[in-house]
Amino acid sequence: MIHVKEHKEPQHGRRCEKFVTPKKLYLPLSQHIGKPAELKVKLKDQVNAFDALAEYSALVSSRIHAPLGGVVTAIDNCPHPVLLRSLGVTLQCTGDSPQLTQREHIENLHKDELLGIIKDAGIVGMGGACFPTYLKLSPPQPVDTFLVNGCECEPYLACDYRLMEEETESILRGAELVARIIDPKQIYFCIEENKPAAIKKFNLALSMKKYRLPESRLVILKSQYPQGGERQLIHQVTRRAVPCGKLPFDVGCLVQNVATLCAIYEAVYFSKPLVERIVTFAGDCLREPKNLWVKIGTSIKELFDEKILEFDREPEKVIHGGPMMGISIENLDYPILKGTSGVLFFSKDEVAPLEGVCIRCGRCVDACPMNLFPSEIIRRVKHKQFDRLDEVFLSDCIECGCCTYVCPAKIPLVHYIKEGKRYAPKNK
Ligand code: SF4
Ligand code: SF4
Repeated sequence: MIHVKEHKEPQHGRRCEKFVTPKKLYLPLSQHIGKPAELKVKLKDQVNAFDALAEYSALVSSRIHAPLGGVVTAIDNCPHPVLLRSLGVTLQCTGDSPQLTQREHIENLHKDELLGIIKDAGIVGMGGACFPTYLKLSPPQPVDTFLVNGCECEPYLACDYRLMEEETESILRGAELVARIIDPKQIYFCIEENKPAAIKKFNLALSMKKYRLPESRLVILKSQYPQGGERQLIHQVTRRAVPCGKLPFDVGCLVQNVATLCAIYEAVYFSKPLVERIVTFAGDCLREPKNLWVKIGTSIKELFDEKILEFDREPEKVIHGGPMMGISIENLDYPILKGTSGVLFFSKDEVAPLEGVCIRCGRCVDACPMNLFPSEIIRRVKHKQFDRLDEVFLSDCIECGCCTYVCPAKIPLVHYIKEGKRYAPKNK
């Protein structure tokens, strides 16, 4: 793992603001790993807030809901940060956020009922992985260790930190629900040392012993990258290594991000689907970096049109996600998705200079948390030897960006790795 410049101030210290009255929402049907959701509405349909616009279409899929009431004004290709364009619903919003009422007899809900609620609420991993949560909570074998991931190790991002400070109770109630489903022997609440306010809050909350949790411990980790990666976190906390090609449940572990736990709590307690989230907006081009609660589907452009965000200077580069794993986008039309933790705006001064030539220094090899040979992977990609990428274990790359970060020649290794994954025979 590597140490990266954090750039988390002033975002860390700023309370979340809200922008919950967008005029228009763009809701792609593919906001998760797996099959895109199946459309359930037609053009000009009037929908209410929380109505399902699209249903899960396979085992690995997820529902998409209307964050607000409104009219379906288009069903076509929406801008999508990963897929560039993806079929989706455009909603002209007319309604307000509905009043939430608490569900009764939550303590009597069976594990399968809890899973059903989580599935119907369209919850996916909000740390960026976007894997449908109900499936993750149905491992094929028992897990004894549940890790609550509050590491948020990518520079600039502060949405999980704010959530841990402002919604401690919701996260702990979400953890209680997950514990009822998977029945672990122990829970580790994992927070990096650069989040003192969150550590204090969780320390206090856990010491009050008011939550029905199995043996629970707060684990304070050194700030390093990519600490929040599932495999890295599991190894760091339990010393169990998840072998290549295996998943955390193979070593008896389950990891959930804090934002996902908060969404689970809201779904079970208030029947609220995943329709909004906190996003960090930062970078040297913004007049004022912010953590904002926004509706899923809000376009970045509308936040500027409504003067919720303002530029100090024109950005040279906009990144959807964090600077290490995020994706560069070419305009502001892109919407916030379920997995969007941040949007960053960088001037020329912050953008990496032009790519140089590999000097075979080996720093990328030393930095790779998956013990890969990144310079050799990109050599093969550049020579279009896509059928030889298996030999260098391309599929084990978690696209963490450590190799790009340390490369003195400023080679965008992850860019080449993504290209390799796109063209490698078995991924075609
Ligand atoms: S090769 Fe992949 S896993 Fe290794 S440092 Fe680069 S991006 Fe991370
Ligand atoms: S860090 Fe960059 S220059 Fe050094 S070996 Fe890796 S790719 Fe080449």
